[in-house]
Amino acid sequence: MTTRGELNRQLARLWSSGGRVPCLDAGPEARGAWTSDASGEQAVAARACLGCDALGACREFVTAEPDEWGVYGGITDRERNHRTGHKATPIDISGDAA
Ligand code: SF4
Repeated sequence: MTTRGELNRQLARLWSSGGRVPCLDAGPEARGAWTSDASGEQAVAARACLGCDALGACREFVTAEPDEWGVYGGITDRERNHRTGHKATPIDISGDAA
């Protein structure tokens, strides 16, 4: 099973059993901290991850399949990109078609 598959399996189990998954348990506004560009908000999300019942599986997933953006497994995108040497490219949200 892939690390993504294992994470999804754990999240489904935790969702149905009432486990702690802060990024899913947070309300709509607080949930934005996991995808925020603001380092302060990301830090709040990363700290909340430390109480997650899927922390290990989430870290394994993001280590195996590094995503450029967002907080996973208590690790911010800046920390992850620093470790991997990846330089994230901002997403074009201007609406201009190429
Ligand atoms: S460790 Fe992963 S699944 Fe858990 S709250 Fe953080 S981002 Fe969400």
